Amino acid sequence: MAFVSMKELLEDAKREQYAIGQFNINGLQWTKAILQAAEEEQSPVIAAASDRLIDYLGGFKTVAAMVNALMEELSITVPVVLHLDHGSSVERCKQAIDAGFSSVMIDGSHSPIDQNIAMTKEVADYAKLHGVSVEAEVGTVGGMEDGLVGGVKYADLHECQRLVEETNIDALAAALGSVHGKYQGEPKLGFKEMEEIAKTTNIPLVLHGASGIPADQIVRTIQLGHAKININTECMVAWAEKTRVMFEENPDLYEPRAYMTPGIDAVKETVKSKMREFGSAGKAARQQVS
Ligand SMILES: [Zn+2]
Repeated sequence: MAFVSMKELLEDAKREQYAIGQFNINGLQWTKAILQAAEEEQSPVIAAASDRLIDYLGGFKTVAAMVNALMEELSITVPVVLHLDHGSSVERCKQAIDAGFSSVMIDGSHSPIDQNIAMTKEVADYAKLHGVSVEAEVGTVGGMEDGLVGGVKYADLHECQRLVEETNIDALAAALGSVHGKYQGEPKLGFKEMEEIAKTTNIPLVLHGASGIPADQIVRTIQLGHAKININTECMVAWAEKTRVMFEENPDLYEPRAYMTPGIDAVKETVKSKMREFGSAGKAARQQVS
């Protein structure tokens, strides 16, 4: 089964009030865990490679070929989106599309809005020729973004409206208090602003930095129009905790399969629990028949 665009998946999720998880790829075993979790939960899934990790992962073509081959070898039947997370330039997004990615995020949020719109429009025009979906961002997600540590800057309602009206995007990441990485204290999301942006733009919203946001707040973000929720930190922490214990308890261990398997199993369990929490578990069939 080939990769699918996230356009129809997110439209269905928004309509039916559930969200599809985006899980970031941190290597081959990691990808296998994400795909197997999706198949076991019968959930559509967005497997994402962050732009800043593309070279580490072996390049765009390697990532696309790896995910594609794993889907075939593991007999994956659920819809899989291969997405570029935080694409840093028009050129990088085009490279991902040319390599076979079915979805890209162009992150022009660090530029003034006119420039953000121009970049996003150029990516969206190219993507549409290839049946590829596009996500764009307004405002600043706190914590580590594109390798820069920064504070939260709320998305401006009128900038969101302009970006959606002037470009042909499929999903909007409107930063409203979420943070990449670990939260210091309780997350504080701007639900009032979220409601306004969702109503005005009427486009599926994307929640970045969702790791560590309590389940009741996640439910509210879904009710207020979020159809895509990004999880990376929680998977990395689950992996690191298990792997650290393996080495502490077995200091002579050196075979990668032996020391990596418990951590990878923890990634798979984390992904599965998120799919149930977001309500996407059991929703794969909706996409196959429609
Ligand atoms: Zn993000």
